[in-house]
Amino acid sequence: MDKMYDVIIIGSGPAGLTAAIYTTRADLKTLVIAGVTWGGQLMLTTLVENFPGFPEGIQGPDLMANMRKQAEKFGAEFIDDDFTSADFSSQPFKISVGDKTYETKAVIIATGADTKWLGVKGEQEKIGRGVSSCASCDAAFFRNKNVIVVGGGDSAMEEALVLSKFANNVIIVHRRGSFRASEIMQKRVMENPKIKILLNSKITEVLGEMKVEKVKLKNTQTSEESEMPIDGIFVAIGHLPNTSKFTGIDLDEEGFVKVHSHFLTNKEGVFVAGDVHDKDYKQAITAAGYGCSAALELQKWLANQTA
Ligand code: NAP
Repeated sequence: MDKMYDVIIIGSGPAGLTAAIYTTRADLKTLVIAGVTWGGQLMLTTLVENFPGFPEGIQGPDLMANMRKQAEKFGAEFIDDDFTSADFSSQPFKISVGDKTYETKAVIIATGADTKWLGVKGEQEKIGRGVSSCASCDAAFFRNKNVIVVGGGDSAMEEALVLSKFANNVIIVHRRGSFRASEIMQKRVMENPKIKILLNSKITEVLGEMKVEKVKLKNTQTSEESEMPIDGIFVAIGHLPNTSKFTGIDLDEEGFVKVHSHFLTNKEGVFVAGDVHDKDYKQAITAAGYGCSAALELQKWLANQTA
């Protein structure tokens, strides 16, 4: 064994780093397995305007760098590599990163969630060349252009509204005949003259030489196929939680970690925080709040073990 910890936090987004600030300040020996690309989804954003305490906004990567600095200041250790496996079958738990294994009394799973992509031909190679999952990051590149948003949930509505401030036309392409988004978001979309809606339709291929130029569409009811010239495609069809490497942890039907009580998973001593369990809010501030709560619950749990 390479080292023994009080807590290992897997993940380094707002949930993981906030948890680390709290556990280190509680004098718990803390290791953060941060991942090769540490910092989570905020590393891919630009200006964050809704994180309290920054009236002028703050760049996503700067916010994460500050959180990490704060956790390191109180003594958190970091490994900037991906964890390989976690053995929760007996105490102490064993967390492996490559050929190194670390032992710990408790774990916080804070591995977040990644964008769900369409999985159609031409999509992956055009990410960053017209295909995006983040309107607030990329909308400005589509000033006076025509873009598609795919999806029928609140995220798709939100992306369309953000894009409408820049693009000439925003077309929401949704596979069914009705949206699942909240009434208020649907109303805002319907009232926006720049946003058009294409229901019962799905993209079957993204076309273009170096960048997105057009899409192939299929009507999901009639199977009729068509093509549409377009400059950008924003995919907003949900997120996939990063849980595939965990065994023995209860997940729901979509793969999100099930919270049993007080941020505990089904395993005693294994806690969870952030987008890896939260399907509803998915905000930096809620993830940070969950990280704080999980760390406080973990402290109580550890204290009870030694009492
Ligand atoms: P969501 O509610 O799960 O919606 C995903 C949408 O994508 C659905 O309309 C779904 O179609 C569609 N979809 C899924 N897989 C697809 C595929 N392979 N091809 C084409 N379409 C596909 O996800 P979300 O919009 O990201 O929202 C997640 C949660 O965050 C929700 O609870 C939402 O309320 C919340 N949220 C709130 C706000 C806000 O209030 N401002 C903003 C963003 C998110 P079907 O409808 O046919 O299943």
